[in-house]
Amino acid sequence: MNPRNIIMLLDSHFASANTFSEVTLEEIRMSEVIIHMVETSDAFSFVDLYFAMPEDDTDDPYSSDDEQKELIHLYRPKYNDQQNEDIIDRYFVKHQNFEKTVQKRYPLLKTPKEIHRIRDYVNAGGTHFQKWTMIREKLFEQFCEWKRQRQIVHDNDLKEAALLLAEQYDLPNFKLYNTDQSGIKLEMITGRTLTFEGEKKITAVAQRLNALQHSLTIQPVISCDGDIVEPTLVVFAEEKEPKKFQEELAEFDNLYCKSKPSGLCDIKIEREWFRDVMVPKSEPGSLLLLDSWSGFNQALEDDIVKEHLLIERIPKKCTSRVQALDKYWNRPNKNFYRRLCDKVRLKYHAHILAIRVNIARMISLVLYQWKAPRFKPLIRYAWNASGYIGERPQEFVTPAEFCLNFQPSTRCFMENCNKIGFIRCAHCENVICFAHSMIIQHRC
Ligand SMILES: [Zn+2]
Ligand SMILES: [Zn+2]
Repeated sequence: MNPRNIIMLLDSHFASANTFSEVTLEEIRMSEVIIHMVETSDAFSFVDLYFAMPEDDTDDPYSSDDEQKELIHLYRPKYNDQQNEDIIDRYFVKHQNFEKTVQKRYPLLKTPKEIHRIRDYVNAGGTHFQKWTMIREKLFEQFCEWKRQRQIVHDNDLKEAALLLAEQYDLPNFKLYNTDQSGIKLEMITGRTLTFEGEKKITAVAQRLNALQHSLTIQPVISCDGDIVEPTLVVFAEEKEPKKFQEELAEFDNLYCKSKPSGLCDIKIEREWFRDVMVPKSEPGSLLLLDSWSGFNQALEDDIVKEHLLIERIPKKCTSRVQALDKYWNRPNKNFYRRLCDKVRLKYHAHILAIRVNIARMISLVLYQWKAPRFKPLIRYAWNASGYIGERPQEFVTPAEFCLNFQPSTRCFMENCNKIGFIRCAHCENVICFAHSMIIQHRC
């Protein structure tokens, strides 16, 4: 392909539009897309990967990181704990009218939105410590019982154990883990018509991919010291697992790949995952917090699992409050995915997000970036906000903020590569192009 000929053709096609104007960002992006298309001369695609975690589908994907931070760091309630509880109760439980009743009683409140913020603030651990205290006490009792059975701590060490539990960072062999499942949706975008292939072929491609319109599932594990346990379980939606499935995905060493027609975890997968990943990769004698989903039950009966980990199930109604992942990890994670996907859609049309290997590339990249030490405070904050640790949150940065905010004209740092930057690595802080981060997976 001769780029000069393409420029000539474009120029003659648009010859009438010869009035000069300032170059816009949109125009730069469009030209980048065209350049990319010429450089790669790949086929174009109708299919897209849309990251939607089921718990908060309706969120604005872009502002939520900031909002979240603002909630925690900036919001200072105007009333005390008891009054806040009362405000929430009046507005959300008793459904009292804001202006007629709630505001009359609490005149400092300006809008109903403020009550939503109070609720988030309260939920985030601003005040609700009594409720968590109960759960923590229960955890502690079990911890002590368990240690005693194994004669690791003596009766008179229990007091000390309590202190240690409170400062669990210093405990050499004790960690808290939490795992939770998130769904990722695959959706077909039909609006994109850029193609040089025949109509027939497009229809065929679309039909094949229709079959893939399930969610896939990821099941990350975070620890209370801000780490992510690797590899992460990913369940792909496959009608029948292809022979080359494991081979094709073998290069992604931070992923533990399984498949089901539904793309959902099941009992068998969980059992294998506990044996292959959770047990070998976690500190013995640690505590794993799990929600009440019954799919875990059978795995937890396994003697190897029982010997290795103390398991605490979180009652259904407490999940959103107590589950660390739910609280502050899922949302910045989803945000990061969405922004990466949007960037790929905008600039790298030729890269089909929804095919198996590209899904793996995207998830692998995101999880690798999450492993950067700079995100530990954010993960630890998730625990703090769920009431497990007493440490005050320090300033933290989200992956989307760090990895995607850089000078748009920055070029790839790799030797002999001068391509436009796609992502800033949270480990080495270098800006890396699409090919070097997504295709040739950068590790440093
Ligand atoms: Zn790097
Ligand atoms: Zn590069």
